Amino acid sequence: MDYFGYKNNVLCAEDVDINTLAKKYGTPLYVYSHRTITEHFRKIKSAFSDMPTLICYSVKANSNLTFLNVLAKEGSGFDIVSGGELYRVIKAGGDPKKVVYAGVGKTEEEIVYGIKSGILLFNVESVNELKQINNVAKKMKKTVNVGLRINPDVEAATHHYITTGKKENKFGIDIELATTLFTEARKFKHVNIKAVDMHIGSQITTIEPYVKAISKIKKIIEGLNETGAKIEYFDIGGGLGVIYDEEKPSTAAMFASEIKPLFKGMNIKLILEPGRFISGNSGILVAKVIYNKKGGTKNFLITDTGMNDLIRPSLYQAYHKILPVNVNKAKLKLYDVVGPICESGDFLAKDRHLPEVKEGDLLAVRTAGAYGMVMSSNYNSRRRAAEVMVKGNNVFLVRERETMEDLTAKDKIADIR
Ligand code: PLP
Repeated sequence: MDYFGYKNNVLCAEDVDINTLAKKYGTPLYVYSHRTITEHFRKIKSAFSDMPTLICYSVKANSNLTFLNVLAKEGSGFDIVSGGELYRVIKAGGDPKKVVYAGVGKTEEEIVYGIKSGILLFNVESVNELKQINNVAKKMKKTVNVGLRINPDVEAATHHYITTGKKENKFGIDIELATTLFTEARKFKHVNIKAVDMHIGSQITTIEPYVKAISKIKKIIEGLNETGAKIEYFDIGGGLGVIYDEEKPSTAAMFASEIKPLFKGMNIKLILEPGRFISGNSGILVAKVIYNKKGGTKNFLITDTGMNDLIRPSLYQAYHKILPVNVNKAKLKLYDVVGPICESGDFLAKDRHLPEVKEGDLLAVRTAGAYGMVMSSNYNSRRRAAEVMVKGNNVFLVRERETMEDLTAKDKIADIR
């Protein structure tokens, strides 16, 4: 469900024609729908409204300041993985008291920043990290709240690059070591173990892996509480899948109705960390076709956007629907939609049937709101795209297109002789 659709044969974001946006702001252009963001957030919120739940939007999926601000105004908390993300959340008006901080490589500087900002808790991913947090907190004469991120060793049935809850993944504390670690951790006087956390992967379209993982971790929480711990929060991470192609992911309501019974009698607050579920279908990437090129065996549409703006197809062979901005009745033709980057892996779509496309036509890459702009780069010295957000018939520029000056702003020509 989203608010991108055709009106009079023209693709619109809510009530705004994409042609108008491309003309005013240029291409490539990320376009977000305010209503899609807020409705997705509200869907999760209402699905869990009958139990104490904190929704911490996962900043890594889309960290634009307006995007975060919209969610902060909805009451969202935030899941972060770096000091930079914490900085963005605070700058966007997010409440640090609703921030949970995961990630396997938190530096001392980042831990200090998290403590000073008064975040809700650090989700700890190793013994050494726990020691480090304890040492830093001691130096700062503080006691900080932590959650133990446990790796439940379950198969999330998604792309292997975005599976995070298997034994061989670098994330979380091995499930068999969790209880021993907890006993050790109680010796640390400057950390308070308040939560148990998991995150099993991303773009998960069935509920079964969650049921398996939650059931395993529930046993651990019960065991810990029997030894005198007081686990207040059960953070079940993010990972809810969205529709890129023909997937049939569970809705927030279906997800909630299957997993809520698992928490019966647990007396815990739930934390959810959805990223893609909220941001995925709330954004599209608009590109212009620069050249139509007939190759030896393929028809290429060469666009002004590529892997530097949206790396998912190149990185994970991810599928994104491609739509013509202006509907035409031309016959279908088979295309590879590619970018201008000097890499054979630079493509947006392969072997797609589209109504015959001409040079200068606009195309929209759907479901580009998550892991799109945040994973963009300046490779080939291309300037990052602009971003706009649409609400009804209002348009807000939420990030300017980078300039040539931006490209070299941090470089220095050293005086080397
Ligand atoms: N929480 C953690 C710890 C993550 O690592 C991620 C993504 O990698 C998320 C939440 C968000 O995942 P998704 O966007 O699939 O909901």
